[in-house]
Order: sequence, then structure tokens, then C-alpha cells
Amino acid sequence: MTHASASRIRPGLRAIASVALLWTACRTPPPAAESTPTDPAPQADDPTERLDTDTSDPTDSGSRWAESDRTLILVSLDGVRWDYLDRVETPALDRLIAEGVRAEGLIPVFPSKTFPNHFTQVTGLYPAEHGIVGNSFWDEDLQDSFDMSETGSEWWGGEPIWITAAKQGLRATTMYWPGSETDYDGWHPDAWVPFDPPVRNDKRVEQVLEWLDEPQPPHFATLYFSDVDGAGHSYGPDSPEVDSAMRTVDDMLQRLIDGLEERGKLDAVDLVVVSDHGMTQLSRDRAIFLDDHVTIDDFWIAAWGAYATLDPIDGDATGVLEALADLPHASCSDDATRPAELQFPSGSRIPPILCTAENGWGITSHEWFDTHPDDLTGATHGFVPTARDMHGVFVARGPHVQNGVNVPAFSSVHLYELFAELLQITPAPNSGDPAQTQAVLLR
Ligand code: AMP
Ligand code: ZN
Ligand code: ZN
Repeated sequence: MTHASASRIRPGLRAIASVALLWTACRTPPPAAESTPTDPAPQADDPTERLDTDTSDPTDSGSRWAESDRTLILVSLDGVRWDYLDRVETPALDRLIAEGVRAEGLIPVFPSKTFPNHFTQVTGLYPAEHGIVGNSFWDEDLQDSFDMSETGSEWWGGEPIWITAAKQGLRATTMYWPGSETDYDGWHPDAWVPFDPPVRNDKRVEQVLEWLDEPQPPHFATLYFSDVDGAGHSYGPDSPEVDSAMRTVDDMLQRLIDGLEERGKLDAVDLVVVSDHGMTQLSRDRAIFLDDHVTIDDFWIAAWGAYATLDPIDGDATGVLEALADLPHASCSDDATRPAELQFPSGSRIPPILCTAENGWGITSHEWFDTHPDDLTGATHGFVPTARDMHGVFVARGPHVQNGVNVPAFSSVHLYELFAELLQITPAPNSGDPAQTQAVLLR
């Protein structure tokens, strides 16, 4: 467990809402020219309502559907560290690797948390660019806080791949993905499902297979499984529980492979399996006490654990970095001193001061540590991307990717370009470099 409280709680922090499962199947309306991110076009959320087909030319509804023979299924296995694949018997993943491509790792963006990374993977943008800078954070301009249940358009910037696909006349469906429930200037997936953790994994696979059975099957679909992340947090990355969760998600991949094979579609589908970050063991012997160096009540502190963000309540950051210079096993910076590779400049959602802990250490306070026996127990992620423990997995198999090839680790920010290439669509402007994933593609 890591520190869960801010030294002062901002107003408006909400618990994750549990939403009812809605099998929403709506076609995307053409974008309203005048709509802005803060003035979203009305969302078609009536499951009985079917709107016009998703194409930028409303008179040309769906004409590109038949033109594309591409299908990309993107599966996220939350919290699967790069080395789990070697240590647990995972026949489905082994088959995908033997017949496809495996990267030595998938390097997360900072912070190595679920929401920022999933959204980077599908937009090709860094968190500071797409706006999802943490699993929860405060926006100084909006005067509001974000949490993982937030679907409002004002939070989600950039263009996720399912929107790029829909705008170019392809069909896209999502069986869970951060950002998939949001309306982007009137666009959304052809079908999406509000996140509902109790929905069984096999039902999720079934849903994707059902979509593929439709008369106009999607060109793009996502799937998401969180079992391995959960086991890692609770029992540690090296636990038998993680091994067992790996077998569970591998069984789900096997179901998907079998379902595709039964339909004669396996060799027509590019299947990409990723994770958002890895996992590292915490210890109460590796505590970093922020309050030994600064008066924590002087700051809004929106994150603790693998990293902490500090926003001086009186707006004056003078002398703070000097006070934090000897914070052990951590590195604190402002914009002037922050390593450029973190791509984490301050702004309305990123406070001026950032402290990153060494891998496996946790930033906390004496009061919290003493009153929470579970603080800094279990395991976590959120550490800097250079920490090998934070690296996830990338495995791909399909007609447009190499066969039996290992490629070096690459950053998640390059995935969007790869997805656009696999779907043969024009990517929106992004920070990825297609050259970084060329070795994945069959030429
Ligand atoms: P983390 O704290 O970074 O490990 O976040 C992992 C958690 O994110 C999962 O256990 C889920 O509860 C949550 N999560 C994952 N995907 C979604 C989603 N699409 N909507 C809401 N919450 C999600
Ligand atoms: Zn995660
Ligand atoms: Zn996690």
C-alpha cells in the first residue's frame, strides 16, 4: 500500500463510480464544426438509438468499411512486467511470440501509472500533451479534480486511435480502455462499454468475438484485463499469485485465439498485446520521509509513493528545492532542473515541484507511515521509465507483423503510429516516431 492522502485534500475528489454495464452500440455522428472540448457535442448514450455511420462525409456513410481488410485487436494486460513472460508458463502468449514479434520491453511514459500510459499508447502523446497526467490529479484552470471514473471531454486531449479510425471510415469498438467512454468533438467508438470491473474476463472476450460476428465487423477493438496488476499490488511481483493471474489472462488470450481460429479469422487479424507498466516491491525499510525536509502542510501534495508532486499553497516555491536537495533516494526538480526525458513540464495539471523516488522506495510522511501499518507494503509502479522494473510487455502476431522476431524495447509513445500503420490510416499529429517500431512490421 502506498500513501493515499494529500496533506490537504482538494475539494471534489471522488471515489471511482461503479457504473452499470451498458451494451452501448452507437455509431458516431460527424463532428460538429463548432464544438469545442468544453462544449461537447451531444453524446448518443441511448443504447436503442443508432446514429449515422461514422464518417467525416455524412453523405458517404461507411463507404470505407469494405475498402479496408485490416483488423487490429489491442489487448492490455495491466501491470504485466517484461520478465513475467519468461517465468510463468503462458502457452497462448508463447504461441503469439513464436509466430510473431516480442519486444524486450515496452517502456512506459512518466508517470508509470495506468491512465497516463494507456492513453499515451492510443494517442502517441505524452501525458503533459494529452492531459491525463496521473490516475488522479488537480487541474488549476478547471478548479476540479480528475479521477479514474472521469469521462468528461474537458479532461481527455488528443485523438485516440479509435477516433482516428472512425474519422477515416473504419469501425472501432472498445471493450474497456481509459478514455474510451469519452466523446471527442462528437466522435466515439462505434460500440464501447462503461468500465465495470466485476464483468468476467471471458464475457469481455465473448463481446469482442460477437462484434467480429456482426455483418460489418470492427477494424479495431480493445480488450483489458487487470488481474495481474491487482495480484502484483497485493502480493508482490515475485508471488505465486502473480503467476496464477498470468495463467488467468493467458487463458483469456487462448479463448480469443480459439474464437478467431473458429471463425477462420486468426490469420487475418493483427493481434497486439501490451501492458501499461511493470511492478516493483515496496518495503517499510525503504521509506522516504518528506516531512523531515519540508513542512508538508505548506503544500498541496497530489501524489505520494513512487513520486510526489508539491504545489506551494502560497504560490512561493523559493527555497523548496534547496530544502529537498538532500531528500534521500529521491530526486526533486522544478522545470529548470527536470530531466527532459521525463516529458513532464509544469502546467495547470502538473505542479511546479516533482520528487521521483528510486525504484522500490516510497515517499511518505511520518504521520501517515506511523498510522498506516500497510503503508509501503506490497508493490507499486509509478517510478521513472528508466527503471527496468517499470517496463511492460509488447507482443504482436498477425499478417502484417514479423514472424518469430525479437525487437529491442521501445517507448509506449510510439505505439499510436504503429497502430495507424497496421490500420493503414493517417495518424493525427503526435509525438511518436514510426521508425522506432519499423522492425515490428512485415515489409
Ligand atoms: P493503478 O492504480 O495504476 O494500478 O490502476 C489500475 C486500476 O485502474 C485497475 O485496477 C482498474 O480499477 C482501474 N481502471 C483500469 N481501466 C479503467 C477504466 N477504463 N475506467 C476506470 N478505471 C479503470
Ligand atoms: Zn496499470
Ligand atoms: Zn497498478
